[in-house]
Amino acid sequence: MGAVIHSAPLVMPVSRPPVADGAVAVRHGCVQAVGSRRDVLASHPGAEEIRWPGMLVAGLVNAHTHLQFTRMADVGRRVYSTFEEWSGAFDAVYFSSAGADWASAAREGALLALRHGTTAVADVVTDVEAVPVLAETGLAGISYLEVLGDTDTSWAQAGRHRLATHVHELGDSAAIGVSPHAPYTLDTGVLADLAILTRAFGLRRHIHLLESAHEREYTVSGTGPIAQLVRDLGFDFEILRVGGTGHGPVAFLDSLGLLGPQCHVAHGVHLDASERALLRERGVSVALCPRSNRTLGLDGPPVAALLDEGGPIAVGTDSLASSPSLDLLEDVRLLRDLAREQGYRAPDLSRRLVEAATAGGARALGLSAGPGRIGSLAPGSRADFAVFSVDPDGRDPYDALVADGAGRCVATVTGAGRAGRVHLADSTAEVRRGC
Ligand SMILES: [Zn+2]
Repeated sequence: MGAVIHSAPLVMPVSRPPVADGAVAVRHGCVQAVGSRRDVLASHPGAEEIRWPGMLVAGLVNAHTHLQFTRMADVGRRVYSTFEEWSGAFDAVYFSSAGADWASAAREGALLALRHGTTAVADVVTDVEAVPVLAETGLAGISYLEVLGDTDTSWAQAGRHRLATHVHELGDSAAIGVSPHAPYTLDTGVLADLAILTRAFGLRRHIHLLESAHEREYTVSGTGPIAQLVRDLGFDFEILRVGGTGHGPVAFLDSLGLLGPQCHVAHGVHLDASERALLRERGVSVALCPRSNRTLGLDGPPVAALLDEGGPIAVGTDSLASSPSLDLLEDVRLLRDLAREQGYRAPDLSRRLVEAATAGGARALGLSAGPGRIGSLAPGSRADFAVFSVDPDGRDPYDALVADGAGRCVATVTGAGRAGRVHLADSTAEVRRGC
């Protein structure tokens, strides 16, 4: 099969400046060349060309979602005043969902994500039936097997064996990681063991961190609304028994060996300066999910500070159980507004946020290097991109994409399999193309 050339009035590879009248040559689901349309056509004589309108952009990476909760959108449509209030509403629906078809729900979520230009996800999977969905739909990324609600005792009796079995059964056929849910939903010994197990298995980690304003009080002193939530769920964790660790959540996770470049965290709404510094030092990316935070009545994350300090960031939607849509560019636009409100004045804001939603997500998932790398368009990367009907009309292309890109994806192409796949936003059809 020869190469297929995808051209557009503007190509945004992310790893290099935007190219007006640009093109990407693709073969076997892999990028062969990126550049001006003229040059790419000249170096691939006889290749089929597909001419797209608008902007052709490196595929978006949703660095925090739960695709299996796509049918729980009723929970996400309500408005809450605290994280704990939302958590109660979520649990009431989730725990009454016995027998739910999580695989089908996750498949719906995957197709929604694709239709909004997302080509890779960090998908937190609570019920393992949802794991095969990424491979089935052509999404790149990692299915993070979620671990929560284990005391040290239940972990030793069953939880550890259950996770090891899932890793053994799924690890060969899917890209998996492990998500120790949060510092307050697992006992201290379980968190410490997960640091060891994930290293032994060579698996990446993904953790919810500082989403609630009360998480710090819980790890420091074992008190407050989160402590009450944990008690109400019936867990007698060590932190409750000994009156806390004396450490905030970031230092607590670090003391257990959970932080490091193999780990990324979600939310970070309440990170203080010293915690941001420690995450930066450990190479931990923070996936910001501002629309989900807003649904839960939370402040926005400290995006201006993270940008100023140079900490690695990515962008996530979270699930439809806490967010209005899986359109990642909606979160990017809100991050732009929050950064400005928080005092970020540099003219590179849109570019850095687009980078966070692409290359930043790839870095968070450990997929920014090596064969099949994602997050930018360059020779050797997976041919993952999205087309947006956005006209810069004299504006900086990044500013135009951030301002107008949400809701304007017309097609998404992934390099899945040898042939690659094209998802058209206005159709449920999936078109396979030879290349
Ligand atoms: Zn989440």
